[in-house]
Amino acid sequence: MVTQPQPDCLVVGSGIAGVCAALFIQQGGARVAIVDPDEPGMGASFGNAGIVVNTKTKPVFAGLTARTLFAMLRDPASPLNVRWSQFLGLSPWFLKMLANANPRDVRRITDALGNLCRSGEEIYRELWRDAGMGDLVRARGSLALNLTEEERDRDWDGPLAAFRAAGVPMERVGPADIRALAPVAPRYAAGVYSPDFQHTTSPKDFVATLFRLFVAQGGLSVRTRVDGVQVRDGKAVGLQTAHGVVPGGSVVLAAGVGTAKLAAGLGEAVPHQAVGGYHVMLGAPGIVLETPLLPLDFRFAITPMRDGIRLAGTYEFGGAARPPTQAKIDDMLRHVATVLPGIDNRATSTWRGFRSYLPDALPVIGASRTVERLHYLFGLSSSGMINSAAAGRALAKMWHGAAPDFDMSPYAIERFH
Ligand SMILES: Cc1cc2nc3c(=O)[nH]c(=O)nc-3n(C[C@H](O)[C@H](O)[C@H](O)COP(=O)(O)OP(=O)(O)OC[C@H]3O[C@@H](n4cnc5c(N)ncnc54)[C@H](O)[C@@H]3O)c2cc1C
Repeated sequence: MVTQPQPDCLVVGSGIAGVCAALFIQQGGARVAIVDPDEPGMGASFGNAGIVVNTKTKPVFAGLTARTLFAMLRDPASPLNVRWSQFLGLSPWFLKMLANANPRDVRRITDALGNLCRSGEEIYRELWRDAGMGDLVRARGSLALNLTEEERDRDWDGPLAAFRAAGVPMERVGPADIRALAPVAPRYAAGVYSPDFQHTTSPKDFVATLFRLFVAQGGLSVRTRVDGVQVRDGKAVGLQTAHGVVPGGSVVLAAGVGTAKLAAGLGEAVPHQAVGGYHVMLGAPGIVLETPLLPLDFRFAITPMRDGIRLAGTYEFGGAARPPTQAKIDDMLRHVATVLPGIDNRATSTWRGFRSYLPDALPVIGASRTVERLHYLFGLSSSGMINSAAAGRALAKMWHGAAPDFDMSPYAIERFH
């Protein structure tokens, strides 16, 4: 329990978002405590595909229409699935998401995501050096795979031109380049190589290493569940926890999918979804892979990690209260054998976790509307490992009353009220 002196800031959540926010608030001279019942990096930050630098994030729903969304949800081979018993309850949220899928909103959202991801590497680099990240991060790019050149050019022509115009290096590659990068099956005849991707070989240790830096610099850790924010005279003055009240000078809610419930308790309900995703580890794959792959005929990530090869992906709506679906794991295992011939696709471990999603795929970064000295950092959707560096630093600047590096209005919680 925190006793004396009281922290200036209590950050709820020890995932990548909470740890980054805590580090940057601490760097400004504040005394910070992270509050979480779990050890660092056990939520979505544990099980993701490990991409930590990527300069070209786009919302996953770009270009979807009600018809194509419905077709994807019905197709068991699609990466997007829904528990049908939940579909009616989810439809208002899907409609809100589709309202953002038109070209104008996709451009607006891509720009706002770009402000976060483009500066990520530079911001992370200093933290990695101070934390001693070592070979937990590898700069091996990423290779998206298409079956044919026509398919690749149809999928990528517009986006490639836009990304090149934004200074993002991406290269069309053919069969020889593909085989030089990875032992991929000949049926993939075309691809796009993104040299600026970097990945971590252990997302859990990536977060834990940053957390150790936070503690080494005087950061505090409180291992308990938060049930609410203690508010006095309109100001956040502490946390109600499973072990009593933890007092603090301010609060940052960065609890991933746990945040929306805490926000609703403060009169700031947002249209939030916990979107399930799966991974499966191949501990003894029997092949050598250096470059992360994304086969676009199935859309899951294949990432080389310290303990083997990780297959990660799928978007499952409405499953938060249900047990995991083994079929998702089986689909990835079956498909990887068609991507990497000769791979030993026996699973050594499996995992399901939840992304925190708002219908515009943008995070909430910023001050509460209803409570003073309270900030939010959640809704990092499919790119929290990539975007938490810039998001955490931007939040810290707001916390310290400094000017942020870019326009923060797209991330304000006001957009839902
Ligand atoms: C299959 C899959 C693949 C992905 N691949 C990538 C990728 O390659 N690159 C990328 O950038 N992103 C990826 N993501 C997304 C990324 O994992 C998330 O955006 C990111 O981890 C979110 O971090 P977070 O800190 O917000 O949440 P989390 O990591 O979920 O952490 C939230 C923390 O809050 C704590 N908490 C919750 N409620 C409470 C409470 N009431 N009291 C106290 N503590 C609480 C939890 O215990 C947890 O430790 C992927 C996600 C999935 C599911």
